[in-house]
Amino acid sequence: MIGQGIAMETVLPLPLATEKLDVLLDKAQDFAISHGITNRLKDKPLTADKAQIVPYLLLPSPMIRKRFTEAVEVQKDFNKLYHKVAHDYNFLRDALKSVIEVDSFTKGLWDIYETVRNEGIAQPIRFGIVRSDYMVDYDPEPSQSIMGNGDDCGPNDSNTSIRQVEYNTIAIGMAGLQTQVAKLHRYLASEMELEDLTENLVETNPVSGLASGIVNAWQIYGNGRAVVVFLVDALERNVYDQRWLEYAIYEQNSRIRILRCTIQDMREAILTKDKKLIIKEKEVGIVYFRSLYSPDSFTSDEDWKTRLKIERSTAIKCPNINLHLSGAKKVQQELTKPGIVERYIKDPQAVQRIRATFAQQFSLEQNEEGDNAVRLGIEKSERFVLKPQREGGGNNLFGDDIKDLLSKIKDSNERTQYILMEKIRPPVFKNYAVRADESVALWDMVSEFGIYGVIIGTSDGIIMNTECGHLVRTKTLGTNEGGVAAGFAALDSPYLV
Ligand code: ADP
Ligand code: MG
Ligand code: MG
Repeated sequence: MIGQGIAMETVLPLPLATEKLDVLLDKAQDFAISHGITNRLKDKPLTADKAQIVPYLLLPSPMIRKRFTEAVEVQKDFNKLYHKVAHDYNFLRDALKSVIEVDSFTKGLWDIYETVRNEGIAQPIRFGIVRSDYMVDYDPEPSQSIMGNGDDCGPNDSNTSIRQVEYNTIAIGMAGLQTQVAKLHRYLASEMELEDLTENLVETNPVSGLASGIVNAWQIYGNGRAVVVFLVDALERNVYDQRWLEYAIYEQNSRIRILRCTIQDMREAILTKDKKLIIKEKEVGIVYFRSLYSPDSFTSDEDWKTRLKIERSTAIKCPNINLHLSGAKKVQQELTKPGIVERYIKDPQAVQRIRATFAQQFSLEQNEEGDNAVRLGIEKSERFVLKPQREGGGNNLFGDDIKDLLSKIKDSNERTQYILMEKIRPPVFKNYAVRADESVALWDMVSEFGIYGVIIGTSDGIIMNTECGHLVRTKTLGTNEGGVAAGFAALDSPYLV
């Protein structure tokens, strides 16, 4: 097994004595419930007076400072890259061509893009609330090791690198809850009187950063009476995370009214002759999507028509259909090809910052590269992740499942809807996961972290481009998938080592 994290044991006295653990846990649970680190019950998503604590890590988790800083520093570069890619019709068409042939969901989105593009885009403002996700890759014996003595001295600056897991362009969640978890960890560190720990926590308030994006976009829309629609799932459990964003908007501008609507609610919205979107007699300034990233959210043709109606309107979409499409895993894979990033980013240092995060990725198109990737995936399935064009967690394949699926579809064009990605090997550390109905114990854990961003601009330039804080999600070693809402990981925050 890979070595333990470097400074975990030195900063945190683990394991905690049972008595100390109980006291800390009691304080933590009360903090969590009184600060809304909560979601709705699985079997009662519509019941507003019943909530439960979202899984979280009792203590913050170690993260290599240099790797964390790299992710923060590349965020605005990535925002700019995707802002440009999202509006390069030819690139997206070529990148997604083979996917669209076999994946009806991506085709549905693409058809909306084609339709509004042919009609003429009604709203020139492009608005993204985004998050770039990473894991640290830890190679205990890097091939160019200067030490070369085989000693495992634990993850450090020279045997780790950051690897982008994915760049999300739609329905980015958890900024609200993360903001509270960061406060929880700071409070507990102070309760434990661990100054070293407190000093190396990272201040973060992503929910406020995301709210600034919405407030800015609303001002740009320019109608003081326009409402913001949060387009949400009917059976959403993660309601309080979304409410935190509403409250952060309210803090910044109390004149902005927010309506929570499902895609079915939006059927009644009217598109006027001059393409204004009107719901309940109110003009819609922004449609902020916290739904519609998955085929399950579209229950009928009517829902697809409603999505098209929204895209046609002058409302600012967060994201518009082409930024949504550019978050596809297939686009991420195409961007790693030589010369592509350079097409959009002229600053060589920014190009380098971006490229330094790329994991190896292969297309499964029906050509020689694709044939090689299929062979690689079958022969060395343990070293890869097979990804379809889906969001929201729980969709990827690992290990023998890759071998089985690829063996079955290797001669069919079905394979082109997937990409094959090098599996990242994050460093392992110990921490306590707190989950409803589970006793708290010290587990071997690994983290994934994301950096939030906001980008607002037009085809001519950028109006707002920010990096606005982080998300850390930690899971037990051996769990393949991630995601808190999907039930695999728990909320966390970093202490830098
Ligand atoms: P989604 O859009 O569904 O969140 P992701 O690309 O983030 O898709 O994959 C889901 C989860 O699968 C991630 O949170 C991570 O835990 C795991 N995963 C994805 N890519 C890799 C990879 N290259 N190496 C290791 N784990 C991965
Ligand atoms: Mg995603
Ligand atoms: Mg993800």
